[in-house]
Amino acid sequence: MSRRLLLLASKTSYRIEDFLAAAAELGVEVLVGSDQCRKVAEIWKGDNLALDFFRPEEAAEEVVRAADTRPIDGIVPVGEPQAVVAALAARRLGIPFNPPEAALAARDKARMREALARADVPQPSFRVFPIDVKAPDVLALVHPPVVVKPLLLSGSRGVIRADDGPALDAAIQRLAALLTSRELFKHREREARLLLAESFVPGDEVAVEGLVVDGRLEVLAIFDKPDPLEGPYFEETIYVTPSRKPSGVRDAIARTTARAVAALGAVGGPVHAELRLAASGPVVIEVALRTIGGLCSRALRFETGASLEELVIRHAVGLPWERPAHERRASGVMMIPIPRAGTLKAARGVEAARGVEGIEDVVIAIDPGRVLVPLPEGNEYLGFIFARGSEPSQVEAALRAAHRELSFEIAPVVGRGGGRT
Ligand code: ADP
Ligand code: CA
Repeated sequence: MSRRLLLLASKTSYRIEDFLAAAAELGVEVLVGSDQCRKVAEIWKGDNLALDFFRPEEAAEEVVRAADTRPIDGIVPVGEPQAVVAALAARRLGIPFNPPEAALAARDKARMREALARADVPQPSFRVFPIDVKAPDVLALVHPPVVVKPLLLSGSRGVIRADDGPALDAAIQRLAALLTSRELFKHREREARLLLAESFVPGDEVAVEGLVVDGRLEVLAIFDKPDPLEGPYFEETIYVTPSRKPSGVRDAIARTTARAVAALGAVGGPVHAELRLAASGPVVIEVALRTIGGLCSRALRFETGASLEELVIRHAVGLPWERPAHERRASGVMMIPIPRAGTLKAARGVEAARGVEGIEDVVIAIDPGRVLVPLPEGNEYLGFIFARGSEPSQVEAALRAAHRELSFEIAPVVGRGGGRT
């Protein structure tokens, strides 16, 4: 009998198509739970369920009701609000998954820091402050450079580095403006009144993609991020795997990530973590109980030909699962940052970028006419460039060469854009 997956995704997620494709390949039936089924219905004609992710208890109740007639074997949440609903529903349905406490701790950066602190996992020193705090009060407790960030957003939104008092006051005001303007915070008032201030940790950054199986972290890939992330804003650009770090460093990254996962109480499902390599060893910047965002997972291929989505779905619905090796070739993705605010008029050079040796695909994710909002307020990328090659250095060079072929015509505008995560 075929198995059924409940895929929980926001209507704006880039990720739905790749999960649906993987499920189809596996012959797994899918029930999509989303916050706006009409939008999802444009790409998914199948079974779906309308859920309000801002009301996790009620959403979980809906899932339990749906499972009466459509038994669910496993749940995959695409983002962090969905992970909370997934955990609540899984507990009630007796489906193995993370406990709600783990999902809640992973979603809220302050709770995550507190959970990691209790387990003595290396991380930046941090403090939580009210959103109207003044720089001297922060600097009295957090050693500069300081990074301020919101508790609940992702994709580096609202994450700002400040090296001195005036810069810190400006950063706090900018973050406060973002938080009070956000739809999300109508529903999350407590967190919207707070900010997290951390000491800036220098050092190279890596990302870990993993799957927790029976409480144990299986590392599926370590990505190097070869572009320096020094701030004041932290836009993601290039991810390349396998990591070029020495094996001892990679082992330390895996061990530290495993400790962080255990500290959160995660027992099953995907993990995406970011760490900085400080002089003292890996330091945890963030652990999220979901897969990598955007279209980046397309940069991952395993020896068996499996995609990340296939592995995650197999594990979720209880199909035979084994950690495959990464394919022999190196691969990478570049998230194309939004260079400035304005209306996108045209994207040029896409064919030339595709023609660069080693480039597999170039996806422009924003249609002309749309308003672009750069970081720290924005939450999307112009698109994604994918490359493969025999060596990580070739992949990185190909991504840079392809990016140089691209140019974006952006007309100035006053206004706000929508966004995808
Ligand atoms: P988000 O959930 O929005 O991705 P993160 O906490 O992961 O927020 O921060 C985004 C990026 O900002 C990180 O990938 C990192 O490059 C940078 N960053 C955040 N906090 C720190 C810190 N304490 N030290 C150094 N860099 C940081
Ligand atoms: Ca992050």
